[in-house]
Amino acid sequence: METICAISTAYGIGGIAVIRVSGDTAIEVVELLVGRVLTKPVQFCKIADLDDVVVTMFRAPHSFTGEDVVEVSCHGSLWVQQEVLRRLIKSGARMARAGEFTQRAFLNGKMDLSQAEAVADLIAAETEAESRLALSQLRGGLSSEIAVLRERLLNFTSLIELELDFADHEELEFADRSELKALAGEIEKHLERLTESFETGNAIKNGIPVAIVGAPNAGKSTLLNALVGEDRAIVSDIAGTTRDTVEDSLVIDGIRFRLIDTAGIRESNDTLEKLGIERSRKAMERAEVVVEVIECTKERCTMYDLCTKDGCTKVLTVLNKVDTMEEEEVKRILEEHPDYIPISAKKGEIEPLKEALKEAARNRYHAEGVAISNARHYEALQRGLEAIRRVGKGLANNLSGEWLSMDLQDCLKALGEVTGEVRNEEVLGNIFRKFCIGK
Ligand code: GDP
Repeated sequence: METICAISTAYGIGGIAVIRVSGDTAIEVVELLVGRVLTKPVQFCKIADLDDVVVTMFRAPHSFTGEDVVEVSCHGSLWVQQEVLRRLIKSGARMARAGEFTQRAFLNGKMDLSQAEAVADLIAAETEAESRLALSQLRGGLSSEIAVLRERLLNFTSLIELELDFADHEELEFADRSELKALAGEIEKHLERLTESFETGNAIKNGIPVAIVGAPNAGKSTLLNALVGEDRAIVSDIAGTTRDTVEDSLVIDGIRFRLIDTAGIRESNDTLEKLGIERSRKAMERAEVVVEVIECTKERCTMYDLCTKDGCTKVLTVLNKVDTMEEEEVKRILEEHPDYIPISAKKGEIEPLKEALKEAARNRYHAEGVAISNARHYEALQRGLEAIRRVGKGLANNLSGEWLSMDLQDCLKALGEVTGEVRNEEVLGNIFRKFCIGK
């Protein structure tokens, strides 16, 4: 393979920078750079007019890409980094495209497609939960589950196809139908669990969707600011203040929450009440947790007909502005409504709400097994699930092997797409383009 190179550390000045080289002539190209033969896996080299560097050599196939890989650790000056790169290119390497190292690792069988995607997720992870999810996928959690399912399905498919070769002997049944039925049922359950886990995986990766609702002036914007810790939703009377972010997110103890339609929080004050309500309703439909803000001085606001989506929407009712109330009054209300969460958004006293949010998220984070977090996997697994359900139905209706084989093939194809055994160049291109250069 052509030799490629790229700066693998983040752009900018740092203590050191790592320039990665991979390909057939990786070792020679770096030898030209440092002006000596590389004999040890890790070697200190002086580049006379440029820098002192440490060169780490990974010989094929024992490297990330499966090819000869050499990493040059130089001092992190922008000039030195660029100059090292320039000299490597002069010696015959070319600039790597985004994700090209990982793409080669995939093409050389060092990892499957879902693992390669996990590399990108791990790099992008900002919370502990996100990184744990990506790591389990990188370590092959999903891959091995899919591989086992695919293997078992493959055996049956070949037996059924063998029957088709002996079509003249209708009585021949190589593939035991009751066993196949049991397997189809098992695989269906497995795929159901995996596709259901998408909600968890997605929540971990993109944040648990939270909607803040309540009557005008209840303190929604103030609460939003207190939660995200910045003056994002401008609490003011200035009309027409537009906000550039529509969704904000916050992290509480490693759990990410995504506040839905925070722009609407302001709008519900300014625009017609009806529009505001409609908007809140839409936000609530997408939410997993609804934070309903009420003011202590008023009756509980009932204008929002709080929806419970499959019973999973959790409503947290916060009693705001407790700083304006007598302690006795707060006590009395809480005795009457023990589920109310007392806060003062203005004073930033919102700890009880944060605790409640964490509690609401707990179920999500205690889900067992592998969770999928990638929409591409979800879509493919969904197709696999539909196909295996057709197999189950076909068996129940004594369909001929020909039909069964088609549905089995569909299922195999869908599963293979997750791990990349069934390849589509366009999909591959899309996946790796999203990577950063140098990975
Ligand atoms: P929204 O219409 O629900 O978004 O309400 P705002 O966040 O714009 O708040 C309306 C008014 O209530 C503003 O003047 C806030 O300063 C005030 N406010 C919000 N939260 C509190 C609170 O906890 N205590 C007090 N005293 N005032 C608050």
